[in-house]
Amino acid sequence: MKCRICHSEKIVEVIDLGKQPLANKYPKNKFQVKNEKKFSLKILFCKNCRSGQIKKIINRNILFEDYYYLSSVNKKLKEHFEKLALKIKKYNFVVDVGSNDGVLLEPLKKLNVKSIGIDPSINVGKIANDRGLETFIGFFNNKIIKKILKEYQKPDLIVASSVVTHLENPIQFSKDIKSFLKKDGTLIIEIEYLQNFLNNLEFERFYFDRPFYYSANSINKLFKNVDMTLYDIEKINVHGGSLRCYIKNSLSPNITKRCKKIINDEKQNLNMNAFKFFNKQIYLNAKILKDKLISLNKRKLNIIGYGSPARVSTITNVAKIDSSLIRYIIDDSPLKQNRFSPGMHIKILPRKNNINKNIDIVLVFAYEYFTDIKKFFRKFKVDFYKPIPFSKLK
Ligand SMILES: [Zn+2]
Repeated sequence: MKCRICHSEKIVEVIDLGKQPLANKYPKNKFQVKNEKKFSLKILFCKNCRSGQIKKIINRNILFEDYYYLSSVNKKLKEHFEKLALKIKKYNFVVDVGSNDGVLLEPLKKLNVKSIGIDPSINVGKIANDRGLETFIGFFNNKIIKKILKEYQKPDLIVASSVVTHLENPIQFSKDIKSFLKKDGTLIIEIEYLQNFLNNLEFERFYFDRPFYYSANSINKLFKNVDMTLYDIEKINVHGGSLRCYIKNSLSPNITKRCKKIINDEKQNLNMNAFKFFNKQIYLNAKILKDKLISLNKRKLNIIGYGSPARVSTITNVAKIDSSLIRYIIDDSPLKQNRFSPGMHIKILPRKNNINKNIDIVLVFAYEYFTDIKKFFRKFKVDFYKPIPFSKLK
C-alpha cells in the first residue's frame, strides 16, 4: 500500500482499535440497533509525510448525507468562527468548504463580507440556507466548482476547517483547490493536530468519518505537490489543540519562522517510537476507565455521561462500556436526543428533566465544555471525571 497523501511506500500500521461502528450514526430504535454495522478500525502512519490514515475507508455517501453535528450548537466553536471572521474580513470573496450550518458564514455576513458555503450534508445544508446563508449542497469537487463559477468569480480566500480529515482523496482535493482559488489567493486549513493526539492520549479522535490525520509536514507536502506554499501556521485552541495553516496559491520563499519550527519539531517527535508508546497507553487507559466504572457501580453510585461527540463511540467501543455502567448520556443537540450511542447503545437524553439529585458521577465526554457543563449541576453534589486518561475534573 502507498500513502494516499504523498505516495510513499513507507507506510505502516501503528494502531488497532478493533471493531468500531460509524461514530456519527446514532441508531434510534431496535431495528437500527440490530442493523448497525461494525468495521475494523486500523490506523497507518506514513513515515515520509508524517500523516495518519485509516486503513479501510468507508464510503463517504453513507457517512455524510444524514449528519448529526451542528457547529452552531457548540458555543465555543461559534466564538472560534466569530473571531476567524474578524481576521479574514479584508478578503473580497470567501468560500467556506464544509460550512456546516453556516457557523462561519453568519458572522461574515454580519461583517458584510461576501461569502458562500459548500457542505455535503443535505439536512445540515438546508438549515444554513433556511437562515439565509447561501450553501451549495454537495461534496467539494469539480462538479460543484463549475456550478459555483457559473454564478460567482473565483474566491480570493477559501476556508476549510475540520474538512481535510474527512476527505476520501486529499490529492484530488488539493488539485481542486488549486483550480478554484484565485492566483495568489489564500487557503486557510484548520486541522486537528496529530502530534497533539499523541501528546494528550486522544485515541478517541480516530473514527471512520475521518480517514486522514495531519501534521504540518503532511499539509506542506500535499500542497507543494500542486505548487502551493504552506507559509504560516498558528496554533489554535479548538478540538484539543489544532493548527491553522495558511497556504498561498503560488510558490513562495517567504515562510514564517514559527511555521519552519513546527515542521522541524515534527521531524524529532512525530515518529514510530511515539506511536508505539501511544498504542500501549490506549489499551492501558481504556482498561483503567472500565475498571473504575465497574468499581463505582459496585458502590451503587449513579453514573451518567455528558456530551455525545463522536469520541463517545471510539471510547466506549474500545473500553467495552455499555448502559450497565453508564445509565444514560445527556446531549444538547436535538438531533441526537432519544437515540442511542453507536455500538454500545447507551441512551442519549436531553438535559431537561434528566439532571437530578440521583446522579452521583458525571463522566464528561465533552470535556472542552466542562465550565459550562458544571453549571448545569450546581444544585447537586456530583463528582466529574474525564474519561481518558481517567481523572477528576474540578
Ligand atoms: Zn505520506
